[in-house]
Order: sequence, then structure tokens, then C-alpha cells
Amino acid sequence: MYILLMGPPGAGKGTQAVQLVEELKIPHISTGDMFRAAVKEGTELGKQAKACMDAGQLVPDAVTIGIVKERLAKPDCRRGFILDGFPRTLEQANALDNTLKDLGIVLTRVVNINVPTEELVSRITGRRICKSCGATYHVAFNPSKVNGSCDKCSGELYQRADDSEDTVTNRLRVYTDQTEPLIGYYRTQGLYCEINGCQHIDKVLADIINCLRGQSS
Ligand SMILES: [Zn+2]
Repeated sequence: MYILLMGPPGAGKGTQAVQLVEELKIPHISTGDMFRAAVKEGTELGKQAKACMDAGQLVPDAVTIGIVKERLAKPDCRRGFILDGFPRTLEQANALDNTLKDLGIVLTRVVNINVPTEELVSRITGRRICKSCGATYHVAFNPSKVNGSCDKCSGELYQRADDSEDTVTNRLRVYTDQTEPLIGYYRTQGLYCEINGCQHIDKVLADIINCLRGQSS
């Protein structure tokens, strides 16, 4: 199965990807991991990506696409993959189509885990992290026993600057603006499938699997 996994920050995409790897025995390929691997292996494209990142610049599409192509051509992707975080734009989607055609691969499904913005804001802004041991909490869903203090080590809990309401709202707006056109693109191709991410994680996984098997849920 050749799967694209989409979903906004906070939708639980990472958790689902781990479950899907277990269930389907195919690799999870995230853009972040791919970049890190290419840089570590010192491939030509990895070197170009590193130069951009070191200079604080965005990695150009041509480099990103090249790295994706190198990764998808590896033997462990023969039987399938879960691609996560790519494509982000229509141009990238077109480039991916060409890459897959070259590799003789046809996408099985594009799965989007959908969670309303208000819910995402509350999920993300409620996160608290321990300064000492890195344990994570949520003020509503997984609170520490003593307010502001870690259960494991009594360290001080804090909110990441990235998780403040303004930053989160902005990140989500950027995400929506970027991915909205992709939804139309894959819907037209009959590949798009939307999953309700406001359910228990087991139900979300079951819905994804149903959708991959071509049953409507
Ligand atoms: Zn701690």
C-alpha cells in the first residue's frame, strides 16, 4: 500500500503512523527523518539541504523532491510506504506524481486526519513539558497531580513558545492555506479519504484501515 498521510499539527498523525507501520509492515517516511538521513549519509542532495538549513533558508523544492525520490527508490519501499509531511504544495504534488510514475508506483490512498481548528488549539495550547526530564502533560487531558510540577521528578512544567495560542493559530492557518488545494487535487483523482480525528485513537486507526481497504466509513 502506498499511502499519503495528511493532518494538521496536533491531529495525532505521529501516533497513527506508528500504529500503521505495525499493522501494515511498511515504512513510515517523514520529511524530517528523510532530511536528517540524507544529511547524515552525506548524499549530494543531503549536502545541498544542509547548506540551506545552516544558512537558515528554506530547502528549495528541487532538493526536497530529489531527496524524496532517493528515499522512495530504496528497496524497503517496494511493497509500500506511509509518506508523511510531503507534498505540501500543488507543485510538490505534481513532482511526486512524476516521481511515482518513474518508479512504477500508483498511490493507494491519501488519508487526511481531520480535527477542527478549535479542538487543535485546545490540544496544543494545553501541552506542558517538564524542564528537567521532558515528560509531557496536558492541562485538561493528562494533568500532573500537582499543578505546575512534574509527577516523575517534581521538575517545573512549562509551555513551549511554539505552543502559545497566537503561534498555534498562525501555524494552523499556514497549514490550512497550504493543504486546502491538495485536498481538491487528490479528491479529483479519487484518492482522497477524510478521517474524523476527534475519536478514540483506536477508532481513528480502525477508520483509516477501513478506508485503505476501500470501504467507506
Ligand atoms: Zn520531570
